[in-house]
Amino acid sequence: MDHNINITIEDAKGVKEFSFHKRVKHLAFYIIASILIVFIVGIYVVFALTKELGSIEAKKSLLEAQNSLLEKRIKNKEHELTQLDERLVSIEELIGVGNDEHQSFSERVDVAHLTSKERSLIFEIIPNGSPIEYNGITSKYGYRVHPITQKRDKHNGSDMRAKVFTEVYATANGVVEYAGYHGSSGYGRLIIIDNSYGFKTYFAHLGKINVKHGQVIQKGDLIALTGNTGRSNGPHLHYEIRFMQQALNPYWFIKWNMSNYEEIFKKEKHVPWEPLLGLIASWIEGEFPDECDDVVSDQIEVESNTTKANLNK
Ligand SMILES: [Zn+2]
Repeated sequence: MDHNINITIEDAKGVKEFSFHKRVKHLAFYIIASILIVFIVGIYVVFALTKELGSIEAKKSLLEAQNSLLEKRIKNKEHELTQLDERLVSIEELIGVGNDEHQSFSERVDVAHLTSKERSLIFEIIPNGSPIEYNGITSKYGYRVHPITQKRDKHNGSDMRAKVFTEVYATANGVVEYAGYHGSSGYGRLIIIDNSYGFKTYFAHLGKINVKHGQVIQKGDLIALTGNTGRSNGPHLHYEIRFMQQALNPYWFIKWNMSNYEEIFKKEKHVPWEPLLGLIASWIEGEFPDECDDVVSDQIEVESNTTKANLNK
């Protein structure tokens, strides 16, 4: 039996004859068969993977849809929680269980009946009025979703609408406790004024600071210009009022003035108003007793009498 394969090639130069053993033929067959199998398997694998990818993508878009639905629900819940917080404060106000539940209404009325001299001094000492020309609040004090971190947290101040380089004024007398860039907290350029009797005021995201650490400040002093420094999502003034480190709602203090003097005692329950204002009032009486005016006029009278007496001599 002939185990050879003979291939004959004929061209212009003549005839060439090649002879292959039959094993080579088998080898060639196996190689071609293997290549074909690999090719077919490859096509199958690519097809299967494409199909799987399709189903994974379908699952992904389903999960994304579910995720956005859940995010919406979380936002709604956060909104509900914020509303509940506000309602809780109103209920507390209604039933009178603020931090100072021992303070009776009549005591507050006493506080409200301070003399005009006492009131005007209190308005020098305790933060009141707006630190900038008032153009509204862009973000209220209380629980909210942080515009940058997107997390629910307590907003310790009022964000007051202001273009960059709006003038900022001290809202009460005090001493500058901090004036500089406060990077870690996100406040940016920050001024903290230590007012007295436990009050502090914070002015954050400032563009320019006009005061120095330790500087004595009077209510109405121009202390800074607003800006957009630190963790801030647009120009505004973050204004904060603290009493014994606890952040209070600055809104009531911004709106506090001589004509609505008693309002704040009902709105802000975290301050022991009665003993505090009582203390200030007794200090004012001690420093400027009512008899003081009479003593001065008596003195003038005595002096003028003496002058007259001298003239008559
Ligand atoms: Zn703020």
